[in-house]
Amino acid sequence: MRPEDLPEDVRPLILPRPRPGLIYHCLGCGARPDIDRLTYTCPRCGAVLLIEDQGLDELKKIPGKTWRRIFDLRRTLNLPALKGVFLFHELVAPLIPLEDVVYLGEGQTPLVAANKALEAKVGRPFWFKNDGQNPSASFKDRGMASAVSFLNHLLNSGRMDKILALCASTGDTSAAAALYGSYLKGSLSTAVLLPQGKVTPQQLSQPLGAGATVLEIPGVFDDCMKVVERLADTYPVALLNSKNAWRVLGQQTYSYEIAQAFDWDVSGLAVFVPIGNAGNVTAVMSGFLKLLEVGLIRTLPRIFGVQSEHADPVFRYYLEPEAAKRRFAPVVVRDSVAQAAMIGNPVSMPRVISLSERLREASGHELTVIRVSEQEIIDSMLTANRHGHVVCTQGGESLAGLETAVEEGLVGPDMGAVLDSTAHMLKFIDFQNMYYENSFPARFEIEPKPELINAPILIKPPNTPCPAPGNPLSGADLEAFVAAAAKLAAEKLGLE
Ligand SMILES: *Cc1c(COP(=O)(O)O)cnc(C)c1O
Ligand SMILES: [Zn+2]
Repeated sequence: MRPEDLPEDVRPLILPRPRPGLIYHCLGCGARPDIDRLTYTCPRCGAVLLIEDQGLDELKKIPGKTWRRIFDLRRTLNLPALKGVFLFHELVAPLIPLEDVVYLGEGQTPLVAANKALEAKVGRPFWFKNDGQNPSASFKDRGMASAVSFLNHLLNSGRMDKILALCASTGDTSAAAALYGSYLKGSLSTAVLLPQGKVTPQQLSQPLGAGATVLEIPGVFDDCMKVVERLADTYPVALLNSKNAWRVLGQQTYSYEIAQAFDWDVSGLAVFVPIGNAGNVTAVMSGFLKLLEVGLIRTLPRIFGVQSEHADPVFRYYLEPEAAKRRFAPVVVRDSVAQAAMIGNPVSMPRVISLSERLREASGHELTVIRVSEQEIIDSMLTANRHGHVVCTQGGESLAGLETAVEEGLVGPDMGAVLDSTAHMLKFIDFQNMYYENSFPARFEIEPKPELINAPILIKPPNTPCPAPGNPLSGADLEAFVAAAAKLAAEKLGLE
């Protein structure tokens, strides 16, 4: 539809207009550095920043009901800039004009109801929200769209020319950064730092295919992050990790889309998010808090973070029930099938602490962090995919988290859950192969369950001519082969 085809009362607001109001907010000392330049940490105290919107009071003058209509009706417009995360322009990055928005198909990912048998097994209604169906096949595209649109805005407004963008990655941030960077080729080039051997071959192929410079660093993600931070502090580069608060803005749309999919009533809902560097859970919490503040929703959902036993610093922090006694300590990570979340010293930890406290003030419930085993993660992934889902290992972690939370009585019988499947299953398919081939090194602590293993069955009839590539059969040989192969296949399939 065209804007002029929409009801008259919403027309003045249906196309967002850029406005100022965004400002960095330091979670360490409370400073509010100006938004106009690229800053990742507080110039005064070095702590991480969040971006605050001082224009929210203006938005609040318009009733929540009107905003709900605007966002619902806006979905019918055929404007690419409003098709992805900038559908929620007012709640994402309102200072970016629509012509500077970079849209590559991110956001608006499907919410798929759990298969009935799986729902019965878990004992609660639940949905997977498949963020693997983003352009580079993970949720990282949401934040990359907002961060790169801001860079594009700086370029187009002449405040910067030629940007080198950098990120450290467990695989998916680099895939997203390289994709968006290659789209803006010429003005934006991308270099990514990866822990050598700690990203999957599929993930490594993505930045290579997009033409980014790929630097491999020995160690784990946390080591890459330190090197990238040193580079960002020393040289004129744009950092594209979630330490960059512009990433958080786009990732908030995961919450906005959930609220919209439930017709803006998320009471009785629990949202499960795997935690690695903690940028995503930061964005999910701050997204729902923003919706509440503007009056788009009336009640917050419960928010659950999930971590593996092999990378559990956030879980350990919240083990101490008394907030005043909590102390954060990084952990040494061990190999994990939830490799994209294999992080021992999450950069966004101060944001998590601050937002979880705001959740508690607003709803009485802080963030709940659940810990699951490697075995539970991969068994849950395989089980979900056996029931018609497309869940990555981190999505398996979300499901394992829900099952544990139900067992522990943390998700009531009248509640439903949305599980973040953060990437596409194919990115992590080598872990499925290791399971099927029983080839996990002992340090993963995974024992394949026979009922979850699958393998191809070769149908090659004995004592019969068989075709081979470049050597087709014909005539009686072909006839004999087809008859024998069909007979053998029918036996294997139990056909009578
Ligand atoms: C990055 C990533 C995570 C972890 O998200 P954080 O924001 O680092 O906590 C989980 N799953 C996938 C697939 C990811 O790419
Ligand atoms: Zn500060």
